[in-house]
Amino acid sequence: MSRKVTDKAVGNQPARHSHIVIVGSGFSGLGLAIRLSKQGRTDYLVLERGKDVGGTWRDNTYPGAACDVPSQLYSYSFALNPDWSRSFSKQPEIQRYIQGVADKYNVRDKHIFDCDMTGATWNTETSQWEIQTSQGPFTADILVSAVGALCEPNLPDIKGINDFQGEIFHSARWNHDSDLTGKRVAVIGTGASAIQIVPNIAAKVAHLDVYQRTAPWLLPRMDRPYLAPEKLAFKYIPGVQAVSRAAIYAARETQVVGLAKFPPAMRIFETIARAKLFAEVRDPELRRKVTPNFRIGCKRMLISNDYYPALSRDNVDVVTDGIQEIKPGSIVTKDGTEREIDAIIVATGFHVTDSPVYDTVSGRDGRTLAEVFDAVGQQGYKGAAIRNYPNMFFMLGPNVGLGHTSMVYMIESQINYIADAIDQFDKLNLRTVEVRQDAQDAFNAELQRKLQGAVWSTGGCASWYLDKHGNNTTLWPDFTFRFRSLLEKFDVSAYQTVSA
Ligand code: NAP
Repeated sequence: MSRKVTDKAVGNQPARHSHIVIVGSGFSGLGLAIRLSKQGRTDYLVLERGKDVGGTWRDNTYPGAACDVPSQLYSYSFALNPDWSRSFSKQPEIQRYIQGVADKYNVRDKHIFDCDMTGATWNTETSQWEIQTSQGPFTADILVSAVGALCEPNLPDIKGINDFQGEIFHSARWNHDSDLTGKRVAVIGTGASAIQIVPNIAAKVAHLDVYQRTAPWLLPRMDRPYLAPEKLAFKYIPGVQAVSRAAIYAARETQVVGLAKFPPAMRIFETIARAKLFAEVRDPELRRKVTPNFRIGCKRMLISNDYYPALSRDNVDVVTDGIQEIKPGSIVTKDGTEREIDAIIVATGFHVTDSPVYDTVSGRDGRTLAEVFDAVGQQGYKGAAIRNYPNMFFMLGPNVGLGHTSMVYMIESQINYIADAIDQFDKLNLRTVEVRQDAQDAFNAELQRKLQGAVWSTGGCASWYLDKHGNNTTLWPDFTFRFRSLLEKFDVSAYQTVSA
């Protein structure tokens, strides 16, 4: 049973208490909220810093933003959408889908929007989390972090970047008031975001410089609009959509063999990517520049049919000399060349293994997540719990990321686990639950053993998958159905518990 709900004081301010507080309402936080509501729970709140649900799909509104996982798979299993307009959805359609699910399951009134968590501290005496937010303090018996890994833009530390006088913005904070038409524009980065932005602005800008540090591998984007009969079948013939989804899932899961178990098998994908590059980039000098120098899969494999054609345009240059500094109206590369520009789009990714959120969460021994991760790297248990953080669960915690299929599948696995954990917490009348050190250590030793032979470790690239200790603390190194079965039930035996 949950303990009595009373509002308490944190510092001098009265705090609002909720048995469960979920922070963040992207796919993961929203999905957990819906599960708790379906179980008949009302003793939870979702604190969301934005004005709406959607998380990364609310925030990434850059031109061309779209998913590189098929729509059929990139949706909740409990809310299949027969109305997807195409096989790979664009951002506005995904955001509308997420909003629609929030409405359908009627969980918006459990949300507090515009509520930015600025700190969370475990209070050993009360066995509660004390949560500071932009809307005042909260307390919770159970805190769930659902802040996501791709939420804090990573701004590159380039000399002079703050003195640039033109327009400058990150891909995840697109400035829709800015009109790039006829301007000289620079895009820094050639990752998943940049390769979608470049083709969508190349035709309208006067000139585009694409600053590439590492050439990515590109595969064909098998995207097409769904035909009316297909949509009707998804909607009205029982099982058709579920079968389509299962087939896509199974096909994608075969990639795990090459990515995690036997990297030489990735040569099949490399051959396809090389053929595509050869066919789409005719200029030998450009082809040389954009040919990757690592095993495919080591970094996220990108899919696009319009990136190489955009790079081949007369008004687009790929710059590979490395940025020396940014001046008020130009970028200077290491070879001394200065290129004048009016606008910079920073498509340099996110703080994944060094999120600023980690500085704000203090656990049982007073150390922040950032301090713990700094010492040992991002280690957790089943991506859902971390030693020293009692009564706290993580959605998309350490080693839950994927390079080949839908994160929504991993999210739903974690929803099963965390919802069951909360149930057991109440049924067993617990005061605290904290993962045991030996359970966490054994779990991580096994993960790192599996990761040793994976393409992310052996493929010869640097990527955000690896932390500063050189460990891969972001990706799941096995079939995703194994993750699903591992998280089917909350294993209380792996936790230290104290009864209420
Ligand atoms: P990203 O994949 O991390 O790419 C960042 C790019 O910026 C890389 O090319 C990187 O070069 C470059 N870069 C970083 N710091 C730099 C610096 N100081 N100077 C020059 N270049 C620098 O970031 P992202 O493209 O935003 O994508 C992040 C993740 O979001 C993806 O991996 C994916 O999981 C997700 N995403 C998915 C979709 C989709 O579903 N379609 C779309 C967008 C994003 P290096 O490679 O040399 O590090």
